[in-house]
Amino acid sequence: MNNQAMIQRSLRHVWHPCTQMKLHETQPPVPIARAEGVWLYDFDGKRYLDGISSWWVNLFGHSHPHIKAALCDQLERLDHIMLAGFTHQPVVELSERLGALTGLDHAFYGSDGASATEIALKMSAHYWRNTGRPEKCCFAGLAGGYHGETVGALAVTDIAIFREAYAPLVRLAATVPSPDARGAWPGESAAGTARRAAVALQSWLEQHHAQTAALIVEPMVQCAAGMAMHDAAYLHEARALCDRYEVHLIADEIATGFGRTGTMFAHQQAGVRPDFICLSKGLTGGTLPLSAVLTTEKVYGAFYDDEVARGFLHSHSYTGNPLACRAALATLELFDQTDALVRNVELAKTLDLAFAPLTQHPAIRHARRLGMIWTWDVATGGRPQPHFARRYARHAMAHGVLLRPIGNTIYAMPPYAMDAESADHLARGALAALQATLSEEGPAHG
Ligand SMILES: *Cc1c(COP(=O)(O)O)cnc(C)c1O
Repeated sequence: MNNQAMIQRSLRHVWHPCTQMKLHETQPPVPIARAEGVWLYDFDGKRYLDGISSWWVNLFGHSHPHIKAALCDQLERLDHIMLAGFTHQPVVELSERLGALTGLDHAFYGSDGASATEIALKMSAHYWRNTGRPEKCCFAGLAGGYHGETVGALAVTDIAIFREAYAPLVRLAATVPSPDARGAWPGESAAGTARRAAVALQSWLEQHHAQTAALIVEPMVQCAAGMAMHDAAYLHEARALCDRYEVHLIADEIATGFGRTGTMFAHQQAGVRPDFICLSKGLTGGTLPLSAVLTTEKVYGAFYDDEVARGFLHSHSYTGNPLACRAALATLELFDQTDALVRNVELAKTLDLAFAPLTQHPAIRHARRLGMIWTWDVATGGRPQPHFARRYARHAMAHGVLLRPIGNTIYAMPPYAMDAESADHLARGALAALQATLSEEGPAHG
C-alpha cells in the first residue's frame, strides 16, 4: 500500500472532520501508516514531526511503550463492561487519582470533549433544578470560546464558522467579553485587561444571575480562538463573582489540562477551585477517546436521593471504558516517572531558543508562550493573505512538520517527548513555512 492508493480509497468512503471535502481535489489528506515518539510516517516512508500533538491530544509521544504495555495488559483482563450497575479497577483508580489531583472527588465519564461539555452543562442546570431553582438554566461563555461541536456544546461555542449553519438548532448562551491579553488598551497590563473583562462579567451577572446556571471558561488559554492567552487574575475574579452571584464555574480543561500550560491544570495558576472540570484530549495521552467531568461533593450531594429522577441519568455506551481508563492511568504514571512538569520547564527553554529566529521575523506580532504552547500572530502587512492557514500548513508539511495555524495565528503544541534535534526540526520548518507562505502571491494559490 502506498500513499496514492490509500488516498483514493479514503476519498471514496471516508468523510473527514472539519473539512470541505472538495478541497481534497487539490490537497489530498495525508495517509499516515505509523507513528513513534514525535514522528509520523506516511505510506511512502516520509516522516513529519507532530508539532500540534495530533490536534492537542498527545502528551508523551506516539506509541509510548509504557501506555502500550498497560493497554496490552488490560486487553488480557477486561476489554469493556458497562458502567451502569458495574464497576472496574481502572475506572476506580482513575477517579481516585483525578480526585486527588483536583480536589473534586466525583468523576463522571464521557467519550469525547464535546460530551464532557454537555455533561457539565446538564449537571449544572439539573443541580439548580434539584435545589429548587429550575429557572437557573441559562449559560454564559467567553467571546471566542470553544467547547465542542455537538448541538448542546455549540450553544457555548462562540466561533461563527462552526455554528452559523446550525443556528436554528442551537439554544444560544450569552457571551461575555474575553480577557484575551491581546485586547489590552495602550499601557494596560495583561492583569489589567483581565480585570476589565471581569468588570464586564460582573455587570452581566448582576443582571442575569437569577437565570444563570453556569459560566464556562477555558482557563488561561482559549485555544481555538487562536491561542488567546489571559492573565490568571480573570479566573480569580470570575471565581469570586460566581460565588457571589451563585453561578457555577465550569473549567473546560479539555485542551489546557495535563501540563499543557505548565501546571497540571491551567486553573491551578489562579489558585481557584471550579465547580466542574471537563477533561479529555490529553487524558489518555492521545491514545483512546475518553472524557471526564469532575465535580464537588456539594453538586454530587444534590443528586443523591431516593427519587430516581433526581439522579443524573445521562449515559454513553462506552462510559468509563476500561481500556481508555487504563491508558489514562498509564499517562498519569508517566507524569510521575518522568517528572514531566519539571522536565517541561527545561524543554521549553530549548524550544524558546530554537524558535528565536521565527519570533524575530518582521511579520510576527504578539509572540507568546505558556507552558508547552508557543504561538505567534502573523501580520500580513496590508497584503491580503487568503487561506493563510491552509497554505501555511501545506508548506509546513513539505518541510516535514505538522502545523495547522488558526487564521493568521501560528502555534506549536508539541508532545512533551521533544529533544534538541526535533526542536530544531520543528522551529526550522515553522520558519521556512512562514517565509514560503508570505512570499507566495496569496490569491493565485488560494
Ligand atoms: C477540543 C476541545 C473540545 C471538544 O473536544 P472534542 O473531543 O473534539 O469533542 C472542547 N473544549 C475545548 C477547550 C477543546 O479544545
